[in-house]
Amino acid sequence: MIEHKNILEDDFGRNHTYLRISLTEKCNLRCTYCMPINGVPLTPKSNLMTSTEVFEIAKIFADSGVNKIRLTGGEPLLRKDFPEIVKHLSKLNVKIALTSNAVLIDRYIDDLKQYGINDINISLDTLATDKFLHIAKRDQFKKVYDNLILLVKEGFKVKVNVVLIKGFNENEIVDFIKLTKDLPISIRFIEFMPFDGNKWEKDKMISYQEVMEFVEQGFDKNVIERIEDAKNDTAKNYQIKGYQGSFGVISSVTNPFCDSCNRIRLTADGKLKNCLFSSTETDLLTQFREGKSITPIIQKVIRQKHKMRGGMDSLEKLENPDLHQQNRSMITIGG
Ligand code: SAM
Ligand code: SF4
Repeated sequence: MIEHKNILEDDFGRNHTYLRISLTEKCNLRCTYCMPINGVPLTPKSNLMTSTEVFEIAKIFADSGVNKIRLTGGEPLLRKDFPEIVKHLSKLNVKIALTSNAVLIDRYIDDLKQYGINDINISLDTLATDKFLHIAKRDQFKKVYDNLILLVKEGFKVKVNVVLIKGFNENEIVDFIKLTKDLPISIRFIEFMPFDGNKWEKDKMISYQEVMEFVEQGFDKNVIERIEDAKNDTAKNYQIKGYQGSFGVISSVTNPFCDSCNRIRLTADGKLKNCLFSSTETDLLTQFREGKSITPIIQKVIRQKHKMRGGMDSLEKLENPDLHQQNRSMITIGG
């Protein structure tokens, strides 16, 4: 029998202190790697967590040891009650962070400041207007870019997520890094990951190793510095000497960070997933609504966590489309 030191510890000694909560399955963009081409059937509103339920369930996690909550989606800022949600959550003794496509973020600057949300990840896969329209299916490049600059000006700690897709944006790796010369942001190149409906193929992926080859073509070897990664950081981080910002690579496919994973995910309809790649999920919301104690359920789900990528512990398994179809599409998980 394995002895667990913490409520949220799994059988491999990983303590899950970081909860990602998806607030909605809806989005105002249609990124092809995230949203299936025909969209997703939306869950009826009555089956989604209300702002009070988000708070009460989050509180149970916080009482069990979670110390960081990231709000994500879909696009979390599409929730009209977003200010109310963060107001409630700010009462918990946890750090709150946000992942957003930034289209609407200028409207929420005051709320973010008031409720202490300083750590913001935004998604931007290209620096070209026409390519943005191609990948996100909405003409919002200028808005997103202007909002990125606004966030920096307003003093937020900004990370920019760039999903790399072969033939689409690998030729912009160096341009993205050049942004960090004058902007104190962190660019994170993400390996394209397989989810239901996103037409993933191994050949469309730009691996960590390939990213570094592009970096070495664009910059002198002696100015590329490996910098220290924060604890539980999913990226391997670098900086160009003298630049204000940094960049990193999140290599979930070729070099996963499962050994140090401290994340669990709650979907907008209140299902708990112990891994991004897991094909199983547990309905916390229904049991919460029935008045059951959900702490033992949470504990059980965490103890069932696989050692690696929801059980897809080899590239062969990851390449098997049948296994992705058992999982949700990314838009309904909350990355
Ligand atoms: N709408 C928000 C946004 O775009 O930032 C939050 C939700 S989105 C699902 C969260 C993150 O997941 C984004 O940074 C996005 O780039 C990433 N993502 C979505 N699909 C992905 C995939 N197939 N592979 C890698 N990252 C993906
Ligand atoms: Fe929407 Fe974010 Fe998915 Fe793009 S990555 S479709 S912005 S949820």
